Amino acid sequence: MADVLVHFHPYFIIIAIGLTIMASYTTLDMLTLIRSSEKNKRLLFLGGTLSMGIGIWFMNFIGLISSDINRFANYQIPLTILSISIGIAFAGIGFIFLTGKNIPFLYLFISSLFLTLAVIAIHIISVYALNLTSHYNIPLFIFSSLLIFGSFLFSLWILFSSKSYLLGNQGWLKPISSFVMSGAIAEGQFLLQRSTTVMTNQQVLQASNNENMFVIYMVLFVSILIIGGLIASSALISKQLAVTDTNLRDIKAALDASAIVAITDKHGIILYVNDKFEEISKYKNEEIIGKNHRILNSGYHSKEFFQDLWETISRGQIWRGEIRNKAKDGSFYWVDTTIVPFLNQKGKPFQYIAIRSDISQRKQAEQDLFDSIKEVRDITFALNQSSIVAITDEKGRIEVANDKFCEISKYSREELIGQDHRILNSGHHSKQFFKEMWKTIGEGMVWKGEICNRAKDGTLYWVDTTIVPFLNEKGKPYQYVSIRTDISDRKRAQEHLSERIKEITDIKFALDQSSIVAFTDAKGNITSVNDKFCEISKYSRDEIIGQDHRILNSGYHSKEFFKNLWKSIGEGIVWKGEIKNKAKDGTYYWVDTTIVPFLNEHGKPYQYLAIRNDITEKKKTEEVLHRQDKLAAVGQLAAGVAHEIRNPLTSMKGYAEFLQLDEKDPERLEFLNIILDEIERVNTIVEDFMVLAKPKAVELEEKNIVPVIKNVVSLLEFEARKKNVRLSFACEEEIIQIECDENRLKQVFLNFIKNGIEAMPNGGDLYVETTIHDHTVQISIQDTGVGIPKEKLQKLGEPFYTTKKNGNGLGLMVSFKIIESHNGKVFVESEPNKGTTFNILLPAKTA
Ligand code: ADP
Ligand code: MG
Repeated sequence: MADVLVHFHPYFIIIAIGLTIMASYTTLDMLTLIRSSEKNKRLLFLGGTLSMGIGIWFMNFIGLISSDINRFANYQIPLTILSISIGIAFAGIGFIFLTGKNIPFLYLFISSLFLTLAVIAIHIISVYALNLTSHYNIPLFIFSSLLIFGSFLFSLWILFSSKSYLLGNQGWLKPISSFVMSGAIAEGQFLLQRSTTVMTNQQVLQASNNENMFVIYMVLFVSILIIGGLIASSALISKQLAVTDTNLRDIKAALDASAIVAITDKHGIILYVNDKFEEISKYKNEEIIGKNHRILNSGYHSKEFFQDLWETISRGQIWRGEIRNKAKDGSFYWVDTTIVPFLNQKGKPFQYIAIRSDISQRKQAEQDLFDSIKEVRDITFALNQSSIVAITDEKGRIEVANDKFCEISKYSREELIGQDHRILNSGHHSKQFFKEMWKTIGEGMVWKGEICNRAKDGTLYWVDTTIVPFLNEKGKPYQYVSIRTDISDRKRAQEHLSERIKEITDIKFALDQSSIVAFTDAKGNITSVNDKFCEISKYSRDEIIGQDHRILNSGYHSKEFFKNLWKSIGEGIVWKGEIKNKAKDGTYYWVDTTIVPFLNEHGKPYQYLAIRNDITEKKKTEEVLHRQDKLAAVGQLAAGVAHEIRNPLTSMKGYAEFLQLDEKDPERLEFLNIILDEIERVNTIVEDFMVLAKPKAVELEEKNIVPVIKNVVSLLEFEARKKNVRLSFACEEEIIQIECDENRLKQVFLNFIKNGIEAMPNGGDLYVETTIHDHTVQISIQDTGVGIPKEKLQKLGEPFYTTKKNGNGLGLMVSFKIIESHNGKVFVESEPNKGTTFNILLPAKTA
């Protein structure tokens, strides 16, 4: 560059650089003013553009003429004007990008590009304007273009995009920026010149030096005038702006600090928002600019609300109101809003400023208050609907009574107000009761209880009562609120229930007294048993609870038996049957059992109740009879044998009698008699066996049984008298028809009566009685003899069981057999030393 400068008039260059710096500063000053002020934008823009254009041109012009001052005479005025115009145009285009509020880096880039173009365009056209033939050094040309561009970009960047600008350091950034810019222009010019090899035109007219100098000074003078004018106007404008701007800025600052501010255009598109707006709406500046306020619509207000708003402000009037908005995060906030329309000369709004203040908290408080008032009202309503409410003063005089109170007490409100609660006293409660109640509430504590009151018509009703004392600042009750609910139904139900419970308890008691009772759960585990259960099973309650009934299993019943039992109770059907159980000590007992399943709502049993009765005694008697079945088989065999014995016995008897005829020796005769007696004895035994052997289907005829019994009784009367026994016979009916084999039944009665007589060796009474219960005749033979010990009862009917010297122990066995073949039954009741009763039951024809 020094090489270039050698050919220059140094004064010119210093003046040119100074001018360029001034031009740049003016330009930048005006551009920054555009950004911060609302008015005079166009003027500022034009001024800025003009000063930049002239600045660039002047630098270029001075540069060129100073390099070869002699060529000045060839300067073509139109081309010079063109170069200035194009420079200004390019600078203008570049500056358009710098007028916005936000300048992205891309805009700075484009702006720098146009400014560079302005410099290059002025240079090229100036070269032509000076009638110079040029040849370009391309790499140097590109380098210098890039340098210019870079310098422009840097200077614009420090002013418009760097953060420091925002911090208010504009004061010293502007000169730096203008220096850099001037540097770019100056340096660029010289570099461009270097890249242009200028060939001197031979036909160029030589002009005098003085003349040239005059023109140069003229141009210099004009340029200084223009730029000076621009500087002056820019200073004036900025001063003027500063005054209004200070006020405005102060107001704006105050507004920004205190209020949420947004400016929209006449269509409602948001142009500006302040920090507070961003803060409350949670939208970023760039998210909200250019959007409609609808973005904040919370949906709370009606369409008419906004319609009214728009009508008001578009008429040019101020609108005020409270708006609920929605922030970006979906939360709501309330703002007190004032929208002021800005009117143009025609009185039409061209933009609106909306000033809002956050009233969410107030709104919330309002809402809370409203909610709690509503809640109180709702609670009061609910209380009045559901409860009997009364308020009394501190002495208990009724001040307020609700409808339900009147309804239940049957008093009208007028009758109640001013009375005290004694009006309702039913006399059910003691004085003490009310005394305690008053003591409690008098001390400021809540009292709860159930009270029986008397209504106006004398009927009694029960109320569940809560009395709440309201305390004054001294902690003394000044009124009482009593809340009651009608519990008469519940009380009645309770009474009914307790009656029922008593009834059930009685039944349970009766059951416990009479029967063996056990409860089991659904699985059959015993959950409770009564005393009788423990008594008969000989287990303690502790041993039996939790067990299942298998603990009592005697092994007597088949698996099938219990399977059926479980099947029926499992289906919810009551089971009845007789079960043989084993007690803890190994003895067996029989129980008549009824198992009742208790069903849940699904019809499934959830527990079982087993009611049992001891039938061991009855079972024993039955066992006696049952044994006959077993004996039948034995008898069958014995009878076969007996039949075979009869024939030899007959011949033995015949020969013995034959020998007796000729026998004279008394001793031998005695022996033969004994033989015959013994033969007779064997014969009776055999005959008795023969009875067992007879087929079951005996030939039965319908006969009156009364004469049959009478016959036997009279037959034995003699023998009885001999043994000092009073024999008596009594019958209900004279004619009792039964299907029977007369002779065999005779044998039965004979056996029983004979046994009875034999049981009374010292004499006694023997009663024979017939009674009839539906279709059954009972013949009982009762003696007052020695009786039969309990353990011997089982033995009755066993063949050859006898306690007598001359007994054969077949009588009962045969008798049972005969009774059985008549479809009858025998029961024995006996008590040692008191007597024995045999009861014979036979099916009867007559009722
Ligand atoms: P026997 O009379 O030959 O002994 P039974 O079969 O008639 O044979 O009787 C068997 C036993 O039953 C008798 O020995 C007696 O011990 C007992 N017996 C029967 N009837 C009575 C009774 N009425 N009182 C007491 N014991 C009786
Ligand atoms: Mg006998």
